[in-house]
Amino acid sequence: MIASPSLSSFRRIVIKVGSSLLVDSKKGALKRAWLEALADDVAALHARGCDVLIVSSGSIALGRSVLKLPHRQLKLEDSQAAAAVGQIALAGTWAEVLGAKSITAGQILVTLNDTEERRRYLNARETIERLLALRAVPVINENDTIATTEIRYGDNDRLAARVATMASADLLILLSDIDGLYDAPPNENPDAQLIPVVPRITREIEAMAGGAGSELSRGGMRTKVEAARIATSAGTHMIIADGRISNPVSRIADGGRCTWFLTPSNPVTARKKWISGSLELRGSVTLDDGAVRALRSGRSLLPAGVTKITGSFARGDCVAILDAQDTEVGRGLVAYDAGEAAQLAGRNSRDIEDVLGAPGRAEMIHRDDMVLKGE
Ligand code: GLU
Repeated sequence: MIASPSLSSFRRIVIKVGSSLLVDSKKGALKRAWLEALADDVAALHARGCDVLIVSSGSIALGRSVLKLPHRQLKLEDSQAAAAVGQIALAGTWAEVLGAKSITAGQILVTLNDTEERRRYLNARETIERLLALRAVPVINENDTIATTEIRYGDNDRLAARVATMASADLLILLSDIDGLYDAPPNENPDAQLIPVVPRITREIEAMAGGAGSELSRGGMRTKVEAARIATSAGTHMIIADGRISNPVSRIADGGRCTWFLTPSNPVTARKKWISGSLELRGSVTLDDGAVRALRSGRSLLPAGVTKITGSFARGDCVAILDAQDTEVGRGLVAYDAGEAAQLAGRNSRDIEDVLGAPGRAEMIHRDDMVLKGE
């Protein structure tokens, strides 16, 4: 049997918490004691220097009871209204329980476009990165109040997987009302066996995922396996674990029952592969020799070393990085639109505000958004 990794080896972890864990469906209130215990788990990870991000569901479940909406499938406008009401209490409670452990929480509400459109993807990624650098814990949910059917995830399993890839997390933990993936539906088949490690998502694994979730949560096992596909192909390991118990994350660390979905890669390698291979080039930036040397020694690309811009790219697009002889030395996601980049070429980063009339990023292409030939 393939061994599962140890929780202590991870440095950036996304924890997804489902609605049914957080919200007592009879009382329509948050399960405060459970949440406080989870905050202890988060604090333990945080204290050893790990970056933690939380993807929390529950706004609709909370809001619907405050607004006294019926216990059946809600109409879109009702779930939007419920989310508007519930999200206040949800984020407030996270801020309180984490605050009690001296951890600052920061709320981020995302829509599908924020993760799928490159310009906005870069913005969300930078915000997350900054919050983590400031040692805050981002608490993330879908912006259900403005998300309509065409532009929504609808389930936080896949949303959490995209957040994990966007943040280059090395582990995603889905806390659920089931302790892992079974080889048959456990509620129908008493002989169903839990699968502790999934080295690769095969058709057989997908077939085991079946359908349906619980009353409160949207995602069943199917969206969890889809999340695992998104995460593992971006170099992130994923766990499905039982969240109904107290301190569920420390239970995993102690070897508790769960399913691991393993990735053969890691977030940095997978991101480099994505940038170098699967993105269409929208233009190029040409550098002087000094800038090429700086990139090779591991630095970001600053506007000062840029001599020419071609193409009509937008912020977040992938561009070729050329040397003075027009040879491609690498590729990267550019932080400025082509027009702005042309204005900034050759200028010192200190002048960015003067040139553009507004403050901007010091780097034209950040080191983490770039892959050089041979890397
Ligand atoms: N974003 C939804 C909420 O907070 C939950 C989606 C899900 O249950 O996966 O209510």
